[in-house]
Amino acid sequence: MAAAPQPVRAAPTLARALRARVAATAKPQPQGGGGGGGGASASRRALLGLSEPELRQLALDLGQQSYRGKQLHDLLYKSRANQIQDFNYVPKAFREALLGAGWSVGRSPVHHAVTASDGTTKILLKLEDKRLIETVGIPVDDDNKGSSRLTACVSSQVGCPLRCSFCATGKGGFARNLRPHEIVEQVLAIEEVFKHRVTNVVFMGMGEPMLNLNSVLEAHRCFNKELKIGQRMMTISTVGVPNTIKMLASHKLQSTLAVSLHAPNQKLREMIVPSAKSYPLWALMDDCKNYFLETGRRVSFEYTLLAGINDEKEQAEELAQLLHTCGGGYHVNLIPYNPIEGSEYKRPYRKVVQAFVDALEARKITVSVRQTRGLDANAACGQLRNEFQKNPLLESSPSEPSLVPT
Ligand code: SAH
Repeated sequence: MAAAPQPVRAAPTLARALRARVAATAKPQPQGGGGGGGGASASRRALLGLSEPELRQLALDLGQQSYRGKQLHDLLYKSRANQIQDFNYVPKAFREALLGAGWSVGRSPVHHAVTASDGTTKILLKLEDKRLIETVGIPVDDDNKGSSRLTACVSSQVGCPLRCSFCATGKGGFARNLRPHEIVEQVLAIEEVFKHRVTNVVFMGMGEPMLNLNSVLEAHRCFNKELKIGQRMMTISTVGVPNTIKMLASHKLQSTLAVSLHAPNQKLREMIVPSAKSYPLWALMDDCKNYFLETGRRVSFEYTLLAGINDEKEQAEELAQLLHTCGGGYHVNLIPYNPIEGSEYKRPYRKVVQAFVDALEARKITVSVRQTRGLDANAACGQLRNEFQKNPLLESSPSEPSLVPT
């Protein structure tokens, strides 16, 4: 008979660090970025998002042997158990100890899902405090390679405090930051619906990732290490929050940072993106330049094209000039506006989009135009959630959002 595995004792300092992180997961997250309490304080501790060393430490803390932590890891990330009651191959006493200490897996039920004709599927998850978040699965068949990609577009906040003038999420208000497991579970939900592994993750769902950077980084770690999604297959998108690009750069991720620019000058940008008032364009571009110097990864820029507002040839030329002044070699991703209810903005005609592309390419800027997918499934960010969550989420002052990252 094989000897029973011996508990692995972590070195005291490592054990302390792991214990602190496991305990931190248990604490309610600070509700930064525009205030907004939210019901997260009543939340139980979530196992999802924890690493193997953390789960081993948790097992030890609950009087189990360390290898039980490895079993938890397999149950969470391989078997994908939805609840502790389904942890079949750990002893009942351990399951009860976990439940008794307030732990849960951290998965939420699917409240609603819609699939567009191109396969794009929007899922609404109902969180523990009954709030709804959107997550989107975007399948792409790569015929040339015979492979298929599945991109998860994940939310980082319940709503968004930044209120870009054309965005449905901002119009629905802001409630709270998502906790790491609430970001991680979005990818698991998409994999379950598609019965396919997620190959790419874009932090382009509801919310501003840089206002919830700690949780975003923890979820990013989990996607990479536990779900084996390559860092280069992930993109973090921001409209720009002072001091956070520097903070992100220090982590030296191999993922893409996408900055939502939407205008080639400060005046127009302030009109489209109110939060730009507290982050001048020159400072944002400077931070992007330094991001490249520090990480070796070029920032890519998103530009939502709004008919008659920012889609003229002269504006494309001004944009090219801005990018060249800031070092050049940048990539621009144009997003023709997806109309949302109650907005006066209009989607530009295809030939206008093409003229914008041509003007940028003529000035040696590489450009892609985001293919509009799932338009018939309320594609614009935040729209589906707004339809189902009729109660306004706003809990902070409706005036100026705070730009304090957490
Ligand atoms: N807060 C992050 C992530 C937001 S969503 C950011 O601003 O980058 C990702 C992108 O989709 C952003 O560039 C955002 O401006 C854009 N977007 C949101 N709503 C849109 C709409 N209705 N039409 C076109 N682009 C939209």
